[in-house]
Amino acid sequence: IIGLNGQPLCSGLMSNVLHTEVNLSDRPYFERVLDSPGTILGEFYIGRISESPIFLVITALRRDDGSPYAIGYVSLDLRSLSNQKQHYGVSSDTQTLLLDRNNIVLKAHPDNSLYGAALTSDTVSKLLTEHTSGSTTVRRSDGKRWQVSFARTGTQADPEALTIVHLTPSSTILSQVNQALWIGIGLTVLITIITLLLGWWGLYAFVGRNIRYLTEDAKRLGQRTYNEPVTPFITGAEFQAIGSELDTVASELQELELHWETSLRQRQSEAQILRLIANAQPLEDCLTALSYLIQDQIPNSLVAIILLDEDQETITTCVAPNLPSAICTRLNQAKVSTELGWHVQALIQKQAIISNDVKADALWSHSADQALQNHIETAWAYPIIASEPEHSIFGTINIYLQKRRSPTEIDLNLSRMAAGLALIAVTQQRQHQTLQYQSRHDPLTGLFNRHTLSSYITAAIHHAQATRSPFCVLMLDLDGFKEVNNTLGNELGDLLLKQAGQRLNEVVADRGYVGRSGNDEYLILLQQANNAHLQDTLKALLRAMRTPFTLHGVHVQISASIGVACYPEAGTELHSLLQHSESAMYKARREGSGFLLYDRRDEEKTNLHIMTLSGLRGALENSEFVLHFQPKIDLRSGTTAGLEALIRWQHPQKGLISPQSFIGVAELSDIIHPLTLWVIEESVRQCSRWRKLGYPVTVSANLSTRNLLRHDLPNQVQKIIKRHNFPANRLQLEVTESAVMDDINRALPVLQGLRGIGVRLALDDFGTGYSSLAYIRRLPVENLKIDRSFITVLDKSTEDRQIVMTIIKLAHSLRLTVTAEGVENDTVLRILRRMGCNYAQGFGIARPIPAEQVIDWFNDANNPKRPILQQFV
Ligand code: C2E
Ligand code: CA
Ligand code: CA
Repeated sequence: IIGLNGQPLCSGLMSNVLHTEVNLSDRPYFERVLDSPGTILGEFYIGRISESPIFLVITALRRDDGSPYAIGYVSLDLRSLSNQKQHYGVSSDTQTLLLDRNNIVLKAHPDNSLYGAALTSDTVSKLLTEHTSGSTTVRRSDGKRWQVSFARTGTQADPEALTIVHLTPSSTILSQVNQALWIGIGLTVLITIITLLLGWWGLYAFVGRNIRYLTEDAKRLGQRTYNEPVTPFITGAEFQAIGSELDTVASELQELELHWETSLRQRQSEAQILRLIANAQPLEDCLTALSYLIQDQIPNSLVAIILLDEDQETITTCVAPNLPSAICTRLNQAKVSTELGWHVQALIQKQAIISNDVKADALWSHSADQALQNHIETAWAYPIIASEPEHSIFGTINIYLQKRRSPTEIDLNLSRMAAGLALIAVTQQRQHQTLQYQSRHDPLTGLFNRHTLSSYITAAIHHAQATRSPFCVLMLDLDGFKEVNNTLGNELGDLLLKQAGQRLNEVVADRGYVGRSGNDEYLILLQQANNAHLQDTLKALLRAMRTPFTLHGVHVQISASIGVACYPEAGTELHSLLQHSESAMYKARREGSGFLLYDRRDEEKTNLHIMTLSGLRGALENSEFVLHFQPKIDLRSGTTAGLEALIRWQHPQKGLISPQSFIGVAELSDIIHPLTLWVIEESVRQCSRWRKLGYPVTVSANLSTRNLLRHDLPNQVQKIIKRHNFPANRLQLEVTESAVMDDINRALPVLQGLRGIGVRLALDDFGTGYSSLAYIRRLPVENLKIDRSFITVLDKSTEDRQIVMTIIKLAHSLRLTVTAEGVENDTVLRILRRMGCNYAQGFGIARPIPAEQVIDWFNDANNPKRPILQQFV
């Protein structure tokens, strides 16, 4: 860099070049560069030391306003041009010439022998004169075509103008072009191939990869893995669309599956709870299982299930497996009121209650402590309600959440489902209890039934065997109940049974158990019964029964008979205790003694021990029964009108046993049916024999109470009659008043059935019962048999004469014939005849006789056994 005064300022060569005494302002380019706006080429010279061809390039350094402040010059070694040739991409056989403005060669490369020579080619010279740069083709002296290109600095008028000329053989250029062309084609082919390959690979990579991802994703869906979305790995809009579809499907499937799993778990738990309910597991167990089910399904939840009694007022059950027991302790047995706090709100309001924020809910004010202690933030309650009967409330399911959030639709559905299950559990349990109650109790009086009492007696036996503590079984039968029932109606009869039962219960209290074992029959188990205590209790029981009852304002007085059988004297088994209390009861009734303790000696006396059911059955099978026939005479003609068949038991050891000893036992069971049918058949058989022998008599057989309850009796009787070809109206069946009145609604159709087949009916033992003659009008009977208690005393009692007279008159007015039984002497017979009585029967006429003696009776009119008859004839 040279200052404007010509002195060098700095140099890129070496520092010692900068000699201050050197002044360059005299150089020819100095003035010129200050005048020219750009860079100029300076003089050319050969370096004195380096002998290098030097060439200067000079420029003025100027300020922004254009004024120069220094001059910069660069000396260029021209040799560097040839060195740099390769570097600039010039071919190796190119010749470079540097010409001055007169086209004299200043430098030639690579052959510098041309130095100083003038350019020979006119074509080129001309071009150089006219243009500053250009190119053309020339044929040189060697005959080859050369490509010439040149460039000049400045115009030709410029004294320092220099021209650079490049000469390259055309063949070289062509070969380069050809080479480039081939390379181009090769490259194009190569590029095309590469492009194709890349395209194919790209396409493959793009499509294949996407499809692979999608396939894998679909496979994952198949394996039920839903939480790995495919979209992030997918490229391309279409594939992304498919991928996002798949992801949506996956998340929907996941949701569905979650829902499905939840509901499956729920169903399984439901089924488990239903199984518990069906197996009649304790209610609390079912509810605890239900609580766990809810807690399982709703995270962070605690459950309490609260149940009410049937009056819907008192809490009977509280189940809260994971809440502090204090909560249930406080609620159990409490009456429902607002004081019990939020827990019972659903019970009070009979609808679902939701507390989204417990702390802010006024309903929680009573239970705020509990909420705090148990971290309860949200709670809801679902009532357990049945639509029948009329929205009755059974309880509530309370769900406490240790988290603040509103219950979801799923939560509420679950709660509703749980309430449904709880309802099933409760109703099932109540039904179960009712059934159990019904199976153990008498529906009318609410007392235990015979079955239950029997089981208590069995338990008492076991207990007594271990502890030797005595107990007694009491059979109590109401005297006069039937009369009340028949005269005042079933409704009051039922009421009487209920009130009587209550009184018995009050007397017995906690000393035993009272049950109803039959129509007007009660069974009592008395525990710890020492003798004095027993007597007191029996008297109290009788007193209670004899105290008048008030039935809907009607005063009624009855009494009772009690048979007592005590363990172990009266028996050590249920069966014997029951049987002995019963026989003692019958005896007490017969004797009118109120109560009677069973005595083994009585049994021996009356042969009761052989009057067992099995004994009777055996007797029937072994044909140990026989019939005796008691003649009945027509009081007008004195002839034998008929014979009454009276049963006896021809016992192999005991001899002939009276019907009074075993009919009562037979009547207690169904054995009375075959027994009665046997009597009827045997009577008909004997009678038809006598009739065939020329004695046109009738035959009578006795029916018992139980026979009248069998609606098939008429049918059976008809079969017998047909079998023996016997005229139905020659058979008379005798029924007692009490047998008919016992259950007149059932007895009446049977009697009508018998009447329907032509059989005649007689009312036996008339006068001992309570029924009036007016009652008899309803019965299809034709004959009244006045009880022998009136007849035997007829000759002594004017009162009885009056009664019998009235009976005969009334009977006749009702077109009934009258038979007097128990005629024991002539006087009575004569009185009866005078009274217009139709038939007579009694020891005074004839005792009951075996069938084989009947023919003799018919034949021997002068039989001394029938003295009275002789008077008629
Ligand atoms: P019933 O039907 O009143 O039979 C009359 C009973 O009075 C018979 O007693 C008879 O022997 C007795 N008797 C007859 N005349 C006199 C008399 O002048 N004085 C006295 N004191 N008694 C007399 P029996 O045979 O011991 O029968 C008793 C009861 O047993 C019968 O009373 C009847 O209710 C029942 N009975 C007898 N045979 C049968 C039967 O085959 N079936 C049923 N269900 N009961 C029968
Ligand atoms: Ca009779
Ligand atoms: Ca009788």
